[in-house]
Amino acid sequence: MQNHARVVIIGGGMMGVGLLYHLAEEGWKDVMLIEKGELTSGSTWHAAGQCPSFTADYNLGKIHHYGNTLYPKLEEMTGQYVSWHGSGGLRFALTQEDLDFFKKVEGVSKLIGFRMQVIGPDEIKNVFPYVGTEGVLAAAWTLDDGHVDPAGCCNALATGARNMGATIVRRNRVLDVKQLPSGEWNVITEQGNVTCEHVVNAGGCYARLINQWVGSDVPIANMKHHYFVTEPIKEFMESNQEMPVIRDPYPSAYYRQEQKAGLIGIYETEGAEEAWADQGGHPAWESENELFTDELDRISPWVEKTLERMEIWGETGIKRIVHGAIPHTPDANPLLGPTGGLQNFWQCTGSSIGIAQGAGCGKYLAQWMVHGESEINMAGFDPRRFGKWANGDYSRARSIEDYEHMYALHLPGEERPAGRGCRKSSLHDTLEAKGGLFHPTAGWERVKYYSDSDEIEEPGFRRKNGFDATARECKLVMEGVAVADLSGFSKYDVTGKDAPAALDRIFANRMPRKIGGIALAHMLNRNGFIEGEATVTRLGEERYYLLSGIVAEVRDEDWLTQHIEPGEDVTVTNITEDYGNLVLAGPKSRDVLAKVTSADLSNEAFRWLTAQEIDIAGVTVRALRVNYVGELGWELHCPMGDMPTVYNAVMEAGEEFGIGHFGTYAVNAMRMEKAYKGWGSELTNEITPIEADIERFVKFDKDFIGKAGTEQRKQDGAQGKTVYLEVADGDNDAVGNEAVTAPNGDVIGLTTSGGYGHRVGKSLAFAYVKPDYAEPGTEMTVWLLGEARSATVLGEPAFDAANERLRA
Ligand SMILES: Cc1cc2nc3c(=O)[nH]c(=O)nc-3n(C[C@H](O)[C@H](O)[C@H](O)COP(=O)(O)OP(=O)(O)OC[C@H]3O[C@@H](n4cnc5c(N)ncnc54)[C@H](O)[C@@H]3O)c2cc1C
Repeated sequence: MQNHARVVIIGGGMMGVGLLYHLAEEGWKDVMLIEKGELTSGSTWHAAGQCPSFTADYNLGKIHHYGNTLYPKLEEMTGQYVSWHGSGGLRFALTQEDLDFFKKVEGVSKLIGFRMQVIGPDEIKNVFPYVGTEGVLAAAWTLDDGHVDPAGCCNALATGARNMGATIVRRNRVLDVKQLPSGEWNVITEQGNVTCEHVVNAGGCYARLINQWVGSDVPIANMKHHYFVTEPIKEFMESNQEMPVIRDPYPSAYYRQEQKAGLIGIYETEGAEEAWADQGGHPAWESENELFTDELDRISPWVEKTLERMEIWGETGIKRIVHGAIPHTPDANPLLGPTGGLQNFWQCTGSSIGIAQGAGCGKYLAQWMVHGESEINMAGFDPRRFGKWANGDYSRARSIEDYEHMYALHLPGEERPAGRGCRKSSLHDTLEAKGGLFHPTAGWERVKYYSDSDEIEEPGFRRKNGFDATARECKLVMEGVAVADLSGFSKYDVTGKDAPAALDRIFANRMPRKIGGIALAHMLNRNGFIEGEATVTRLGEERYYLLSGIVAEVRDEDWLTQHIEPGEDVTVTNITEDYGNLVLAGPKSRDVLAKVTSADLSNEAFRWLTAQEIDIAGVTVRALRVNYVGELGWELHCPMGDMPTVYNAVMEAGEEFGIGHFGTYAVNAMRMEKAYKGWGSELTNEITPIEADIERFVKFDKDFIGKAGTEQRKQDGAQGKTVYLEVADGDNDAVGNEAVTAPNGDVIGLTTSGGYGHRVGKSLAFAYVKPDYAEPGTEMTVWLLGEARSATVLGEPAFDAANERLRA
């Protein structure tokens, strides 16, 4: 066995092999995959092999679509049996909300290019006459779906990878991984050691064990899942046309034709179980091609419901039962990208639909590893969207809950109980008593809005009761004064003699020169693509305070620490959970704050975009005169334990001014009115500051990481532009991933986020469109829940474009 490689991938299932193939295709030939048994001997061999297109997530949709275009031709490309069956798929809608969702997915299908039609019960019968349609309102008919032989497909990718120069070593268990002083990795295996630049954990159900070798963890729970194959069915024997794969919320099952027999797979809606729960949730190292004893009694309620739909299967016997393990993550998305706190130790695992996703995951992760970024937005797959808070208990609870809801929509506004409350501000209970309704982001419980009754939020895609409550909160912020607990943001102290120089190199914007100065700044990769965004406050000569989005917490910390040069005196301390942030905003906020601090709050003494340490009720508070809502106001940052003291003082002082509360829905509504872009939606790894239209935050007269790439892009011209839109009003607003078309009907881009601006009475959105459509005044159409809504490019923020209220 060779003892050096550029990349070593641990695990030869669909995910590892999918990556190997695409690394080789991207030009990295010195890549090696090590598998302890035979390829596919983990979860891959026993999968049912279905490859759906249906998803409302644009980036996940791209992953699926890529597989569905590669697999049909893979057999011809490699000479290896794949057995692609282009059967198409039918997904049933049972409720009006399902129908709304279908329209959303239909919009995504236009963007990505997979064929989809929403058809009624009569048309369903035309597509497949033998399925019962009682209670079915419609079906999403996705014509590019199919199913493969999973082992065949994986082996075909392996053949393709070998043909391109990649190496596969079978029957060789990796025993340990250690980092060498050079930064390289030493992969210790049964057949000797391999040093390499990059290691990839593609261990499937073993992924957590593999990460433990390097002192890390991955949020995966392995779930038990059944499908079974019937005896041959007479109607199938007599037909040459294959039935589509049906996905049906009524029995929470998928069912399809397998050769001339039927195949039924069940996602239990209750009582789902973690695999190997009695041995810590993991297979033994010796395990190979392992299946569990079937538990047909456990799944029989859902099987019976499936047979109600498929009467022609009613009397047929069972020929084969498969009861195997699936790796599952808390949010059901795979883990693709770097491991937090480690350099060049990657994850390509956690996929619960890994046959469908293996090729696409491999393609986009390979782009990231080879080029530094991928052509799709990877934020939703980056393993670092989870932190240490996503421990074993959390992952287990969330994975079981998600598995049980496989075919049930998770509606906007719907709160599910598993894994809740793992990250809370010290004001949590107080705010709950005020009517705060919470929603977790990166595990952090944040108030979405305050209910003035016992009503919780009514879930749905269209405006519901949360809309009116948000309107009330925006009005209060605009006319009076209110507080929001925005502790759920990432916070770092950056200190040291070399901190000014290091930050100036890491960020594209100039760092504040004066103590108390604040700058919005972006981290770019070497090609100029956007890695992160932070608000940087200078607290001292060698002391900065950085704030960024909570979902970027681990990746921002990685980016900062990994770009400090050897010998530099810089320390980055993550104080996300140690510090709280109470936002005080509204025209009366100065009056309120003046009552609790002796600091001079006048415009001359405390200017907009500056910070000071002030005293409130005996607590030293970092007061930043900035906010995300576009009103006079301060962010009050203090140690988490002191938040109640500061909050109580502010609320008491604010009583005479009618102080109230606002939540994150109102924050989003108001940031849309101010046209503030968000990291992860408008600002992503797919684009540079030129496309994002944030050039004013890039200082080309200094050196910074990504400068050459950004300059090059400026010279070459942007491939797309981020635009700010006013959308014709309706009963719902853009949220992102919605298709945008030109007057002639051509798809010209997609929305990235949106919301209703209550202060201006307008539905607003950001979109990423072809550069020809970026001029203010340009007309286009945004497709919201299947409805064509006209939209116009705005040239300036819809609310207070001159920032007069912020400067007030
Ligand atoms: C019953 C059932 C039906 C399914 N149906 C579908 C479906 O229809 N469509 C779909 O898309 N998905 C389906 N799945 C899910 C699919 O099987 C998984 O998502 C997929 O196989 C995961 O692939 P993987 O490469 O991550 O994991 P695996 O296939 O488990 O591969 C991981 C590999 O790593 C190896 N390994 C681990 N540790 C080491 C080590 N230390 N040294 C060397 N090698 C190591 C293991 O031996 C294993 O081969 C189904 C799953 C089940 C259980």
